[in-house]
Amino acid sequence: MSLFQRAVRHPCRLRNLYVRRLATTAESTGLSFSLTEEQAGIQDLARKFSREHIVPVAAEYDRTMEYPWPVIKAAHQVGLLNTHIPEAYGGPGLGLFECALISEELAYGCTGIQTAIEANGLAEAPVIVAGSEETKKKYLGRMTEEPLVAAYCVTEPGAGSDVAAIKTRAEKKGDKWILNGSKMWITNSGHANWFFVLAKSDPSAKAHGSMTGFVVDANTPGIIVGKKEINMGQRCSDTRMVTFENVEVPEENVLGSVGEGFKVAMKAFDITRPLVASGAVGLAQRALEEATKYAQERKTMGVPIIQHQAVAFMLADMAIQVEASRALVWKAAWAKDAGLKNTFYASMAKTLASRTAVENADKAVQIFGGAGFNTEYPVEKLYRDAKIFELYEGTYPAYARCCCFTLSSEHLTGTSQIQRLIISRQLSSLYPSS
Ligand SMILES: Cc1cc2nc3c(=O)[nH]c(=O)nc-3n(C[C@H](O)[C@H](O)[C@H](O)COP(=O)(O)OP(=O)(O)OC[C@H]3O[C@@H](n4cnc5c(N)ncnc54)[C@H](O)[C@@H]3O)c2cc1C
Repeated sequence: MSLFQRAVRHPCRLRNLYVRRLATTAESTGLSFSLTEEQAGIQDLARKFSREHIVPVAAEYDRTMEYPWPVIKAAHQVGLLNTHIPEAYGGPGLGLFECALISEELAYGCTGIQTAIEANGLAEAPVIVAGSEETKKKYLGRMTEEPLVAAYCVTEPGAGSDVAAIKTRAEKKGDKWILNGSKMWITNSGHANWFFVLAKSDPSAKAHGSMTGFVVDANTPGIIVGKKEINMGQRCSDTRMVTFENVEVPEENVLGSVGEGFKVAMKAFDITRPLVASGAVGLAQRALEEATKYAQERKTMGVPIIQHQAVAFMLADMAIQVEASRALVWKAAWAKDAGLKNTFYASMAKTLASRTAVENADKAVQIFGGAGFNTEYPVEKLYRDAKIFELYEGTYPAYARCCCFTLSSEHLTGTSQIQRLIISRQLSSLYPSS
């Protein structure tokens, strides 16, 4: 019986299904673009969920900008939330590759909803990377027990790409840490049960060692969550400012060691960046499919517009870019699952996939003509939703070792320019002059 058939019989928990790990597959089979039966089952499950639970409601959530709680609850019910939480803490413990398959399918339906789901993974990643056994049980465990969301608080009004410039302070008083400062553009923050917060614990130290990461319960006194920001796209995703005013955090909520916060926050991106990239692939694939269908139905000069070479070549370029982006995402995810440092490929995957999302959405609008500009048709939403992929999520992991070389010290996070910095600064190590 396939994993998908088993999932249908036992729909409440993906984690109850037997899932072979990709790392095992990668070691035993060498290069292969074939999915295992289990991976195909996971992909089928996510695809079916997206077509049934996301596609039909995406436009309405975009219009109302309401947070998609019913979809998140349904995703939790079938096990498509928190997919990289290890089994020891109640999650399915999927490999990054399987998580990427899921992200692409969810994003095909709506990247606003997928971002809300993905932001959970972003907040959880530092806990997975550096949390103590007790912290993991407490904060990851509760995420698997009921449909909750969490948020990752790093960016500030004055510090986005340049993480080293954050100003939020963490001061030790007795056995507690006191947080003061403001975080900006925090996804899921209006609905979060807890936050991952990066703060300066020793501003006099070098940037690497000046920061500490904390898990903070959202109901702690002194946390002020701002108004929902009205963004260009992904409008049902919840983005807000979060202010910390004398917020007391117990010592046991420090993630890893004091002074290791930057490393912890950045390490999370190796897990989550390929998933953001796979979300961009999902949007690009949707644009390709919508445009191809429309081009076969819409006629001008007596023929379907797909028969005009100018239109057909746009579709061909869209298909090429989707395939190339997906292949890079798969490589970045595979590398992580195989125990290799994936930073180099994760940055490439995010850069290419996010550009592909933007370009494919643009071409889809062009192919739809005037209808592409109208909210009754699906592609104007894709156009608005796509741009954020080139802006959020990323890192310049100063401490990191990628393949066989070490990176120089910078403290950057974010955009496609930053991804290109990460990639380009490794090239001279890869290909030294003489
Ligand atoms: C909808 C949304 C959701 C988000 N969710 C979260 C979240 O959940 N948690 C979180 O912590 N953050 C989140 N962010 C923040 C996001 O990660 C930052 O916006 C991003 O890192 C860029 O930072 P910035 O906006 O401050 O731009 P800036 O850092 O001010 O950059 C402005 C421009 O300058 C360029 N630039 C900056 N430095 C360099 C350089 N050295 N070389 C070349 N170009 C450079 C950038 O590429 C960009 O084009 C979110 C943002 C948005 C819009």
